[in-house]
Amino acid sequence: MTRVGFSVLTLDPDQGNKSPYGNLKIGEVYRLMFEAEFEEWWKAYPKRVGRIAAKAAYTKARKGGVPSEVLLDGIAAYRRMKPSYADWCHPTTWLNQGRWMDEPAEAERRRCPRCGGEPPCRSYTQCNERLFPHRKASA
Ligand SMILES: [Zn+2]
Repeated sequence: MTRVGFSVLTLDPDQGNKSPYGNLKIGEVYRLMFEAEFEEWWKAYPKRVGRIAAKAAYTKARKGGVPSEVLLDGIAAYRRMKPSYADWCHPTTWLNQGRWMDEPAEAERRRCPRCGGEPPCRSYTQCNERLFPHRKASA
């Protein structure tokens, strides 16, 4: 995986004071590492709003043991699974809800984010029919 900015190779917490950032405390090494990883994740996320909250949620997930690669791969899966009519999830919500663990089968059973219908609508036409049943009936 290509990394930008700080690299986990040069900011390896296991290296401790042997890292090029030798005078840094271990917590500071982690902080810089998470910061660099967040930058990469943020650039990959399709909707970049609420950066400060998103960064806190990202750091919380990483501190909870979720690998950075998993969080990045989760975005790719999210891009594949999201229906075209649905808005992109707020990045903080996406992180706090653990959306990187979403599976296609579960996505099929989720409610439509636009009209709340189950299963999720497959087209704008279907969604509008659910949202405006009277319009369809009178047409
Ligand atoms: Zn719908």
